Amino acid sequence: MSANAEKQHNPLDSMMQRFDEAARLMGLDETVMNVLKVPAKSVAVNLPITMDDGSIKVFEGFRVVHSTLLGPSKGGVRYSMDVHQDEVKALAAWMTWKCAVVNIPYGGAKGGIKCDPRSMSKGELERLTRAYTLALSEIFGPDTDIPAPDMGTGQQEMAWIVDEYSKIKDQNSWGVVTGKPLILGGSLGRVEATGRGVMVSARSAMAKLQMDPTQSTCVVQGFGNVGSISAKLISMLGVKIVGISDVSGGYHNPEGINVEEAIKFVQNNPKRTLEGFTGGKQVTNAELLTLPCDILVPAAMEDQITAKNAADIKAKLIVEGANGPTTAEADPILQEKGIMVVPDILANAGGVTVSYFEWVQNRLGYYWTEERVNRRADRVMKQAFDNVYLTAQKHNTTLRLAAYIVALDKVAATFRIRGGF
Ligand code: GLU
Repeated sequence: MSANAEKQHNPLDSMMQRFDEAARLMGLDETVMNVLKVPAKSVAVNLPITMDDGSIKVFEGFRVVHSTLLGPSKGGVRYSMDVHQDEVKALAAWMTWKCAVVNIPYGGAKGGIKCDPRSMSKGELERLTRAYTLALSEIFGPDTDIPAPDMGTGQQEMAWIVDEYSKIKDQNSWGVVTGKPLILGGSLGRVEATGRGVMVSARSAMAKLQMDPTQSTCVVQGFGNVGSISAKLISMLGVKIVGISDVSGGYHNPEGINVEEAIKFVQNNPKRTLEGFTGGKQVTNAELLTLPCDILVPAAMEDQITAKNAADIKAKLIVEGANGPTTAEADPILQEKGIMVVPDILANAGGVTVSYFEWVQNRLGYYWTEERVNRRADRVMKQAFDNVYLTAQKHNTTLRLAAYIVALDKVAATFRIRGGF
């Protein structure tokens, strides 16, 4: 575990606390709880990779399959120095709940490699990705466990995975991984899917809170795939984006940030960050979260909204683009303040939803238009939001616990009917 991960909360504890609370609220019996508390499979591999300078470096890799009760397990692969087994376990369980909340026929998994992709060459990343695929080739499969992009990975890594896996199995296996480039069986709309789902969630929540988008402001933390596209699509609703951030820090502009320009700036910056962006006054990442705004979209990483800063948050609506951005200790503080939180397992489920559509198209061998992908994904997200909202009213609880209740209910019912040994 890196020093950074150590001083942070353990995301597994955060996940378990919500799980326990939801299980208690819905009266889930202990037998089922004991099954769902632990991952079905957890693998750690050590991958010796030849670096460009000729040295050999050993990288730690993980794949955790939390559950396959609802279908093949699904979830991304993360490349980051903060990756550790407990984090991957929490992220894998979150995938189980996420797929159940949006009602797609998948279980949950997650993978990760402890590495710093920004400091590695393309060749080193390719060798690492292929070695990881080979090491996990008995776990991965279109009907067993299907990886996808996550933090630090994208279409290129998915292309290497599908290529390596297809070579190992001696057959083209498009469906083994999603988030692929279009020319390798990817789906239109997949790149934008998570941000689009965040926008649909924000729009649904604003309607419930009777917020007028054209009179609302929004701060987005994180400017990777999820953050930048969420910011762009939310601004297209008429919302003014007043703050954005990435590893280089935060940028605040009460008059509104031109998101398209910020995206172009990052694309043209050799560092691929917002460093040097002049469309807003520079603030720290900590200041960014407590800026005056109506909507806050944490789309960076885990454990950003904590017991330390939750009381200072000004937004009345939080839409979680990242996985686990709020610690369990922060939840009651936000609730006390009357802030509506659209939880990660609902708000960022647009990505895995379109991953599912990609896999369906791979199996059909027939590809949909972007319009069809978006229309169906929007419908899935809207229905999931309404279902979670109704459940929250029924149990008189938060959207987060309601989302867990929806998910646990479905997974537990499936366990009961499938039975065990
Ligand atoms: N990594 C994304 C997530 O956390 C997408 C997973 C997928 O598409 O399988 O939801």
